Amino acid sequence: MTDDLPAVIAAIRGADHITAICHESPDGDTLGAALAVAIIAERLGKQAEVVAGDPIPPFLAFLPRVDRVRSEPQLEPDVAVIVDAGDLARTGSIAREHADWLKRATLVNIDHHVSNPRFGAANLVDPSAAATCEIVALMLPELGITLDAELATCLAAGLVQDTHTFAHPNSTPRTLRVAADLVKAGAPLSAINRAIYADKPFATLRLWGLMLAGIEERAGGRVIHASMTLAMLTETGNDASASEGFVDLMGITRGADVIVLFKEAEPKRIRVSVRTSERADAVAITSQFGGGGHPRAAGCTLDVEIDEARAQVLATCERELARGDAGGR
Ligand code: 5GP
Ligand code: MN
Repeated sequence: MTDDLPAVIAAIRGADHITAICHESPDGDTLGAALAVAIIAERLGKQAEVVAGDPIPPFLAFLPRVDRVRSEPQLEPDVAVIVDAGDLARTGSIAREHADWLKRATLVNIDHHVSNPRFGAANLVDPSAAATCEIVALMLPELGITLDAELATCLAAGLVQDTHTFAHPNSTPRTLRVAADLVKAGAPLSAINRAIYADKPFATLRLWGLMLAGIEERAGGRVIHASMTLAMLTETGNDASASEGFVDLMGITRGADVIVLFKEAEPKRIRVSVRTSERADAVAITSQFGGGGHPRAAGCTLDVEIDEARAQVLATCERELARGDAGGR
């Protein structure tokens, strides 16, 4: 573990109440970690709340006590533990609409994004961790907390989400050891995998069909891209979270170095997901547009129409491939 574990432990121990905050468009890692932090805080005798600015996607409804998640902080600012957010702005509406609340709180930043600028008063940022939930699991002995099935399920959700159930190269022996402890404590690994990656409604398969039909390649097949438009969501009766997992389906393509998914959130607000082979750096692409992430998986948002977003991002992808080919890193 890197950074300041003792300062993070001291902040958590010293708090009267703890607000655990997720990143925007919450996934299993940020939600699993935030719910776990709240459970830990309560076991330490503190008041706790979990805050996510955006709605919980239906595929995470299985998470223990997910109904407790609030859209804004209600506790007085004390210690705010921000989990899995590569920067403070990634908390979305919390950073935008509750800046004063955040200023009055002691920020504890627990994350695994390499680009994290250490925005907290105490920071625990470990890019070697496959998931923020891995970091939280490794903190438990320091906090004197033992695992139970509820806590283990929350933490396992983060591992399953961020490693694609241990298939991505970010899974290390340590990740698997943590996972083994979680399963031993009662985390239903197979059911969590199914909830996150399968169990899709028929309507979502119809949406994916439209997205797959529109898939295109560039740079001789080294760049593969697809788009999800608002019209497709309306036509198939889905909400935006239905795209979750589609980028992994694109990733089964042989020979592609860059996979890009464009998601129209509003007519001029395009969320972009980028996945890369070791021949391209996903963060180098998304950081051109104010985004971030991990070397193999990153994201950004462009406030332009979808055609324009495609033109700008795909040109950047081709430049990044050329840079990688030239050994220019
Ligand atoms: P996804 O494509 O699954 O939304 O995100 C891939 C990875 O990039 C995740 O680790 C996510 O946290 C990170 N990421 C996605 N969008 C952004 C963004 O706009 N800013 C930053 N800093 N990271 C992002
Ligand atoms: Mn994560």
